[in-house]
Amino acid sequence: MEIVNQYLTHFKSALKGRYITFEHIEPLLKKSPRVEILKYGVSEKGKNIPLLKIGNGPHKILAWSQMHGNESTTTKAVFDFLKFIEQEKVYQNEILKFLDQNTLFLIPMLNPDGAELYTRNNANNIDLNRDAKQLTQKESSFLDAVFTEVTPDLCLNLHDQRTIYGLNTNKPATVSFLSPAANSSRSVTPARKKAMNYIVAMNNLLQDLIPDQVGRYDDTFNSNCVGDRFTSLRVPTILFEAGHYPDDYQREKTREFIFYALLNVFGILKPDTASQTSYDEYFNIPENKKNYCDILLQNVQVKPGVYISIAIQYEEVLSEKSIDFIPVIKELSPKEHLLAHKIIDIGKEMILINSQENIYIDDKIYTICYKNTGKEIIL
Ligand SMILES: [Zn+2]
Repeated sequence: MEIVNQYLTHFKSALKGRYITFEHIEPLLKKSPRVEILKYGVSEKGKNIPLLKIGNGPHKILAWSQMHGNESTTTKAVFDFLKFIEQEKVYQNEILKFLDQNTLFLIPMLNPDGAELYTRNNANNIDLNRDAKQLTQKESSFLDAVFTEVTPDLCLNLHDQRTIYGLNTNKPATVSFLSPAANSSRSVTPARKKAMNYIVAMNNLLQDLIPDQVGRYDDTFNSNCVGDRFTSLRVPTILFEAGHYPDDYQREKTREFIFYALLNVFGILKPDTASQTSYDEYFNIPENKKNYCDILLQNVQVKPGVYISIAIQYEEVLSEKSIDFIPVIKELSPKEHLLAHKIIDIGKEMILINSQENIYIDDKIYTICYKNTGKEIIL
């Protein structure tokens, strides 16, 4: 695909890694002929929440990223998009058409306080995606006010999902989507059909790049969630969930797939646009399952003749302005068939975790080695 060859050289923005705060994006927020900084909202701790405007067309799109502070992959992707839109070398016909037909209102970081703390919730420990109705927080009120002011035709709700999600294809859910429900009966309303059309088009594009790694989320209705609320107000809304790609804990590959998906929604990158798809194909996209762990140790001897497996999940911890991935024991001999991003066969040996023979759930792993030889096991 032509765009893939051009992405790394032309469009990848300066943002890197998982820890992305307002201080990281601020230098990239500059007025340009194609990007206008419309205004700033204010977070609970007084940080700026920029609202950008791109294009002047009649079709209005409202997109927001990092509503959950520790979900930065889609923020990297929207800055890749800004870099793409500002360059004047390639895809100019497509870009000019997009700018002419659409107005994109973009909030690249809705929760700058949570971003700084690397937490899902905001500074008051409120999940902004459960505050859509009550609007108790400044960030939620800002998004709601922009929604009311803009009256968008389409909303994009941009998130990350954890590495525990996989699909019945036995692949990780690298990108998942949802057309949120508009009511508790989860009926397929006209707004949902439109969102599904877009998702089917994005899936058709992504299947070429990440076959069997695209999923869809559970559509249980919750009116406190922003996507559900906006859909119930008859505005097609698409939830994006950037997930795990093999060996990509920094999510530098997944950001690329989100970037391509955005270009598809914006009609810039095909094979299909939403108007060319049939919405019911949405239901053929496999549902997300919690069927993955980060690391699975197999054939661990705990007593003579007794062997177990150990499921390990990374905990993401902010330390010195970057994210440490601390392995934590989550399950011993998981009963359900559990897949893993990495499998290590211990070969029926005994091991020492933090110099101990006993193995406890929820323990953080600082050192791990074979008991007999003392040889370190690299996770
Ligand atoms: Zn989220």
